[in-house]
This record gives sequence, C-alpha cells and structure tokens, in this order.
Amino acid sequence: MNGEKYWEVTKKDWYRTTRILLVFIPTLGFFSVLMLPDYWYFWLLIVVAGLALLVAWHAENFAYICPKCGEVFEISALKYLLGPNSINKKYLKCPKCKKRAWAEILRIKE
Ligand SMILES: [Zn+2]
Repeated sequence: MNGEKYWEVTKKDWYRTTRILLVFIPTLGFFSVLMLPDYWYFWLLIVVAGLALLVAWHAENFAYICPKCGEVFEISALKYLLGPNSINKKYLKCPKCKKRAWAEILRIKE
C-alpha cells in the first residue's frame, strides 16, 4: 500500500462524513417543508446542487484500493455516481489490472 499519500479511513473521517450528512439532511428537510409543492423546481435545484457538492467533496477526499493487486486509485465524481456503493466499499474497475471488484475506501491526505 502507498503509505505516503493515503491512509485508511479512521473514526475521525466517519465522524466528519456523518457531521456533513447531519447538516445536509435536515437542511434538505427544511427546504422541502418551505418550498414543496409550490416551488418544487427550486427545491430540485437545491437538491441537485447539494448532491453535486457532496459527491465532488467525496471524490476529492477519498481514494480506493484494488483488492486484487493493491493498486490505489482515485475516481472522478461521475464514476462515483455511476458505481454501486456499500458503506465502506465501492464496486469499481481497477485501472491497473482491469478487474472489477469491491474496492475498499481510503482517505487522501490533505
Ligand atoms: Zn487491480
């Protein structure tokens, strides 16, 4: 494993992700009450913008490790949206060995 730039996702990272979601979900709920059903298009805009921000943040801060060959790689926000997810793994095609597998998530050091 490449120890220079990446590390395993720690409890602190989970807290941070949880904190972001804890802000994100009630904010969404608040806007839903405020804007639905009269301003649903504004509401939709906010949802899409919020999700885009969330995905961009995630793509920028996390990388994945291939379970077959150990290659560590980053993915784009688009790929992030397309691939199936579990809580701490993502089904991805490895850029090195070209095999599809459940890649474990890693945090990118800032
Ligand atoms: Zn691989």
